[in-house]
Amino acid sequence: MSMMSNSNKISRREFNSKLGKIGAGLIAASVLPSFGTLAQNNPHEGKFIDVHHHLGSDLMTDSANFTFDPIIKWMNKNSVSQTVLLSPIQYPETYYPTRAGNIIRNDELLEKFQETNGRLLPFCLVHYDAFSTTKEIVKVLKRFKKKGVIGFGELKPRDTSGNSGNIPLDDPRMKRIYAACAEVDFPVLFHIDNKHAVDIPGLPAMEKVLKEFPNVNFIGHANGWWNSITSDVKELKGYPKGKISPGGAAVKLLENYPNMYADLSANSGLNAITRDPEFGTKFLVDFSDKLMFGTDAIGGTGRESHFDFYNKIDLPEEVKDKIFRNNTRKLLKI
Ligand SMILES: [Zn+2]
Repeated sequence: MSMMSNSNKISRREFNSKLGKIGAGLIAASVLPSFGTLAQNNPHEGKFIDVHHHLGSDLMTDSANFTFDPIIKWMNKNSVSQTVLLSPIQYPETYYPTRAGNIIRNDELLEKFQETNGRLLPFCLVHYDAFSTTKEIVKVLKRFKKKGVIGFGELKPRDTSGNSGNIPLDDPRMKRIYAACAEVDFPVLFHIDNKHAVDIPGLPAMEKVLKEFPNVNFIGHANGWWNSITSDVKELKGYPKGKISPGGAAVKLLENYPNMYADLSANSGLNAITRDPEFGTKFLVDFSDKLMFGTDAIGGTGRESHFDFYNKIDLPEEVKDKIFRNNTRKLLKI
């Protein structure tokens, strides 16, 4: 599409500011009529960027009937300007079957992302047993990056048959992935718990990885990460309640490592912020440069609780701007 190829030569933001909001709207509406609701919003307007959303197999019926519409409608309703889709692009691609059992080829899906005018942005996954060298992973990631993929994750390790791996976060097979992400400049978003990207209370494996890969930005997520907001963490699963004790591993890692970030998505993220409201608010302010709004919704459904909470929260405006949008823009260069 001619507009996309022009806009690729300069950044999307430059492109939009060059055109001006009205011009961009007119061009989007006239050149891209098939976008429907997409064309009504400039990709850089809106209160939130959702850094953690899944496609779900319901939308992936087959390429002819495929639509992002439910997600776009959900975004427009909730003032979400851009949404990061986790793991729609996978290697090998046979892993992610559609509801009807069909496969949407990565290339086809990437084209559909391109048509969203930057409102939907894909991350990718390479399964940990797909390759035995970093070099091979780099090759695949470079190809994905050229076609619009902007990060790696959700890294909830699986093998090429789709089985969950029980893989330690600092396993050599995981390190190959981090090394490849360092080479292509992809952030890595983790699902940390007791049976996926596995760590133990205190998050020693996470800390080792942060030290070993200082050039990779890591994004913590899920129960293992968020339960570690308190120093008296017992298990890296479940949704513990009650007062938070200072010095939790997640707090220390955010404090001590410039390459550690976290997304606020899912019940685990909301539980961590709300279980001790006074601590939660202070945590958001203290780490306002490291935290990113996210939902973990699937195909434009679920997680209304995140909007209920963050639309009402009392925080300085600049903290909200950073957490709701700007940190994600900066980290993902969007
Ligand atoms: Zn998720």
